[in-house]
Amino acid sequence: MTEAAEIPKSARPPKQEQEPASEEVTELAPGVIRMQLPIWMPGLGHVNMYGLIDDRGLAVVDPGLPGPQSWKAMKQRLQTAGFKLSDVHTVIVTHSHPDHFGGAGRIRKETGAELVAHRSFTTWSLAESSRRNHLPSEEEEREAEQIAAAAAQALDIASEEIPTVDDHADDFVGDPLRDDPTPEFNAQSVPWGGETPWGGSKHPMPKFTRRMAIRAMRLLFVPPDPSRRVRHAERVQLAGREWVSVHTPGHTIDHLCLYDPEYGLLISGDHVLPSITPHVSGVGNGADALKSYIQTLDLVAALDGVKLGLPAHGHPFDDVPGRVNAIKEHHEERMELIKRASEAIGPATVQQLSHEIFPRKHWGVMAESETFAHLEHMVLEGEVERWSEHGTYVYRIGS
Ligand SMILES: [Zn+2]
Ligand SMILES: [Zn+2]
Repeated sequence: MTEAAEIPKSARPPKQEQEPASEEVTELAPGVIRMQLPIWMPGLGHVNMYGLIDDRGLAVVDPGLPGPQSWKAMKQRLQTAGFKLSDVHTVIVTHSHPDHFGGAGRIRKETGAELVAHRSFTTWSLAESSRRNHLPSEEEEREAEQIAAAAAQALDIASEEIPTVDDHADDFVGDPLRDDPTPEFNAQSVPWGGETPWGGSKHPMPKFTRRMAIRAMRLLFVPPDPSRRVRHAERVQLAGREWVSVHTPGHTIDHLCLYDPEYGLLISGDHVLPSITPHVSGVGNGADALKSYIQTLDLVAALDGVKLGLPAHGHPFDDVPGRVNAIKEHHEERMELIKRASEAIGPATVQQLSHEIFPRKHWGVMAESETFAHLEHMVLEGEVERWSEHGTYVYRIGS
């Protein structure tokens, strides 16, 4: 609060999720510490790696991007906290974005740690990585790190070359939280440079960058192959007590939160962030990603006695239900905007509607993918009509 006075009026303070990674290690609750690792992604400055300490050593949650810089920072943070890499007995990955799972495979490889993720966690194919026939040079690693970081945002979008969920298709059976993703829907996944399912626009990553990014990832990633895949409501022993896994699809289909009923903690990953609204991808994310997201926001808001939310980016925050409401309101507003835009311009494509509701600087596949998620939700709710014209989806309000 006191720092605010020193910020010149003209400069808007960055959002807390954009702050650069601090070297500080802070204790948040008995046996729970926050460490921050640097990341290089638009709009984000750090990822929180939480440490859950018990008498065997510690578990870490979301150990950052792949690559030497993040690895070095991670070892330094552990040292500051009084631990060695070999003390890490468990790695938990909240979801399949590279700033969360990047370091996980390598920790497992070097320490034999258990790797825990949701049952639907998407994995890198082990066969792919075994094709690697030489160790990368340091220079190659550094170059790869930058490319992988730049490409990381695009990982919302699945292709045959990046992680897929096919190996675990029947993991979803009986999961009460959301619809099963249909094979047809998964088949609509967009490769980089390929057509989007809604038509009329292409993913903008150029061919060369795409090849480089894939090569970069193969060089850097030790595939994060989970040794334990948890289902919703499964108990996990961490920090000397029992936590409950909470499956929270919406941001990604495999998103996992962890709830500690004893001290009222919720490790919220990217499901609930303190000041930015998590992206809800309309691609590779179930038939109604927005519905899954809203339902599971309500689910975490209703958890008993949560005193502190521990997000993957930004500061721990105390009012989880309040933040859930704000995020839900944001989506309500966005749907209102889409409805009004649709009324104003008549039948329109995803791209046209996204241009009506997003400022120009945000135009692109991320904005379209979220607009698509909103529109598909409204189609399923019967509020919006959709048909196809020459392979492009067209939407109109009402029916
Ligand atoms: Zn994410
Ligand atoms: Zn994230």
